[in-house]
Amino acid sequence: MASKKNVIPALIFVACLVLILPAHGAGIQVTWDSDAVVPGSIVMVSVTTAQDLAACEAVVGPDRFPLVKVKDDRYVALVGIDLGEKKEIIPVDLDLFPFGEETPYRLRADLEVRQTGEKPPVQNLSLPTGMVEFSPERLKRIRKDNAELGKSLAARTRARFWDEGFLLPVPGRISAEFGVRRVLNGQERAPHSGVDIAANQGTPIQASNHGVVVLAEDLYLMGKTVVLDHGWGVNTLYGHLEGISVSEGEEVNRGNTIGTVGATGRATGPHLHFGAYIRGIKVDPLKLIEATREFSSSGQVP
Ligand SMILES: [Zn+2]
Repeated sequence: MASKKNVIPALIFVACLVLILPAHGAGIQVTWDSDAVVPGSIVMVSVTTAQDLAACEAVVGPDRFPLVKVKDDRYVALVGIDLGEKKEIIPVDLDLFPFGEETPYRLRADLEVRQTGEKPPVQNLSLPTGMVEFSPERLKRIRKDNAELGKSLAARTRARFWDEGFLLPVPGRISAEFGVRRVLNGQERAPHSGVDIAANQGTPIQASNHGVVVLAEDLYLMGKTVVLDHGWGVNTLYGHLEGISVSEGEEVNRGNTIGTVGATGRATGPHLHFGAYIRGIKVDPLKLIEATREFSSSGQVP
């Protein structure tokens, strides 16, 4: 089936809200790709204005964060849409602070969540019983692991530690996509929270971007795991490592080796489990790479 997207120019899929500020006559445009507003995805909301701004901030749910200036007149925010999102609208409030003015202008972008109605594919896995059914002791350990992992993934550092886009941490084939339904020994479990990249045991894993190591631990299910806080509310996770070569609190640069591919924890063979989180919302890591492609070292926080 030919995709409609190949025929119709991409612009058609861009929802557009134009506001003119009467006091200045300056046009301010707020745009986003309405096609991208689906569960598990990332939406880039852009504010384009000829006015000089001292700052531009977004308020999404409980979070307030600065937009990034990517061009002279364009500011962007990344908004994560949860995989299980049931809301019809995600409101994004945008506060613009023009130079020399005390009060900000507030604009509102209502992101309309599109439910595709498509059921993600099912992945059936056969695992040792000890990796699917747990004794009370084991369950206690897993809950403790999850609490620590949850804490590291919820980090919402306001400052941004990166300029360039995110990179794929190891070259390789995607062996399990984000969001696939997981059936383990015949029992349906939570959907896949990242992407699996098939790679040989011992392949070096690169940090997807600049960041700080907020977790470097051996967890029962995720195996040896590293979580990086990249700032601006973006975190990435690397699981099932053979070895970890960084420690908590350490700063890493984009492309630095943080460990090697393995099969520790609940894994059927060597691969990297790569996860991405935007202000605590798990999103498709491939979409993070795609969404940040246009960031360059010229990008700056106003
Ligand atoms: Zn995985």
